[in-house]
Amino acid sequence: MSNTDFALAVEDLTVSFDGFKAIDSLTLYIDRDELRVIIGPNGAGKTTLLDLICGKTKPSAGSIKFKNTELTKMAEYRRVRLGIGRKFQTPSIYENLSVFQNLEVSFPAGRSVMGALAFKCGDEVRERVRSVAADIHLGDRLDTEAGLLSHGQKQWLEIGMLLMQEPELLMLDEPIAGMSARERELTADLLQRICQGRSVIVIEHDMEFVKRIAHKVTVMHQGKILAEGPMEQVQADERVIDVYLGH
Ligand code: ADP
Ligand code: MG
Repeated sequence: MSNTDFALAVEDLTVSFDGFKAIDSLTLYIDRDELRVIIGPNGAGKTTLLDLICGKTKPSAGSIKFKNTELTKMAEYRRVRLGIGRKFQTPSIYENLSVFQNLEVSFPAGRSVMGALAFKCGDEVRERVRSVAADIHLGDRLDTEAGLLSHGQKQWLEIGMLLMQEPELLMLDEPIAGMSARERELTADLLQRICQGRSVIVIEHDMEFVKRIAHKVTVMHQGKILAEGPMEQVQADERVIDVYLGH
């Protein structure tokens, strides 16, 4: 397999903050239709890696290719248009709008709230809203004001808002933080479904959850990759137990 066959190819990536290498010559490849989980101790550089891929942070050196296009000098909004979606830890939804409206305004045709609400809600948009709402377990909540949803449902809604843009790479930073056991189960189902037709990167700490969803696990430590492979292999790795799982 050549490097051009990967959805995402990160090579020799480095970022320094005042001389401290938060990401240190990191190389990582993600396949199409793959759900990759990144784990590792606090401060390992997991969130920084997502910041670099989405364009929030600029690297000091190295390359990030998405579908074989170099991203490192590309503006954040252009990466979004290219198909990269990123969910941050705190949900940013419009609390006063309904579930339907939140999804509707996220349809790529309308970029601002005002513009999208004025935008005539065509059949195509309605169709996509319904299908995404079903995916995120909110199919029967379309008229509910978003502010009234549970914490977990708000997280799903934000995932849905990203799905409206049909991203080919979706990145989620600790998506189940604060969720109930039932919501965690439903989120696992949701992630397994939405990685079909795209690549998904999830940062997570809950090992039971990781076991359920990961195709492959990457363990980060001090800005580098400590181990990578199937969950069983990574879990049995002495170095991983030493720096992370044993704690
Ligand atoms: P993780 O998500 O694995 O817990 P982070 O990526 O948030 O780790 O942080 C990795 C390291 O980089 C930490 O030591 C953090 O303090 C540092 N760091 C992250 N972002 C910045 C920044 N913008 N400026 C300075 N240091 C940063
Ligand atoms: Mg983090």
